[in-house]
Amino acid sequence: MRQPLVVGNWKMNGSRKLTVDLLDSISNGIDAKIASEVAVCIPNVFISLATETVRSTNLTIGAQTVSEFEAGAYTGEISASMLEDIDCRWVIIGHSERRALYNETNEALVLKVLAAQQSGITPIFCVGESETDYKEGRTFKVIESQVTALLNNAMVSLDNLVLAYEPVWAIGTGLTATPEEAQEVHAFIRNLLRERSVELADEVRIIYGGSVKPTNAEELFDQQDIDGGLIGGASLDANAFISICQKA
Ligand code: PEP
Repeated sequence: MRQPLVVGNWKMNGSRKLTVDLLDSISNGIDAKIASEVAVCIPNVFISLATETVRSTNLTIGAQTVSEFEAGAYTGEISASMLEDIDCRWVIIGHSERRALYNETNEALVLKVLAAQQSGITPIFCVGESETDYKEGRTFKVIESQVTALLNNAMVSLDNLVLAYEPVWAIGTGLTATPEEAQEVHAFIRNLLRERSVELADEVRIIYGGSVKPTNAEELFDQQDIDGGLIGGASLDANAFISICQKA
């Protein structure tokens, strides 16, 4: 049985005040009866404040990227052990914005996954096809190359890993894959995981991202291999985010 997981991605939004207010509102709306695990990935500068704010709640805090290196002359970078030191539990790795805007390659992303796992932080590894790939029927080919780049590294552990399927054309656009389309890709990813480990493949959570809203969350989360969501825009609205968490 996989516990559903809902992860908010605030991207580069927020302030000290918004961090405290929004996390307070979300944690107040998520009571002990909620079945899903809930995390919020926020800008690094607010993580310490955030972990203090959610200390006695069901919410946990994550980051949105991490360095692949442990320490040293990497000006501007933040290491996984630094994130762990401030109680950060999760890190999004390979979000399509990082891949596209900062040229993050599969090779570097796999090193980031290893760095996170070695520090006890759970990586949320994102994969997804572009609009052109989708329209030209290359979805499965792209997903396979992104997932196998990760799984071919024998040091990557399936024990402490979340995968996120985010069709790039659905991120922030209001467009969403149909539940059936998304399920087909999630089942495909789980089969790739089975090639590594039949037992662990059924335990890895694969979450869906791309314009998830309170109105479409339920039908997506109802699918057998969709274990929750990675939520961008709607995670900045406490009521919408709480409603999505309740549907997971
Ligand atoms: C995201 O940025 O990961 C995302 C899914 O964004 P949105 O929900 O706004 O499409």
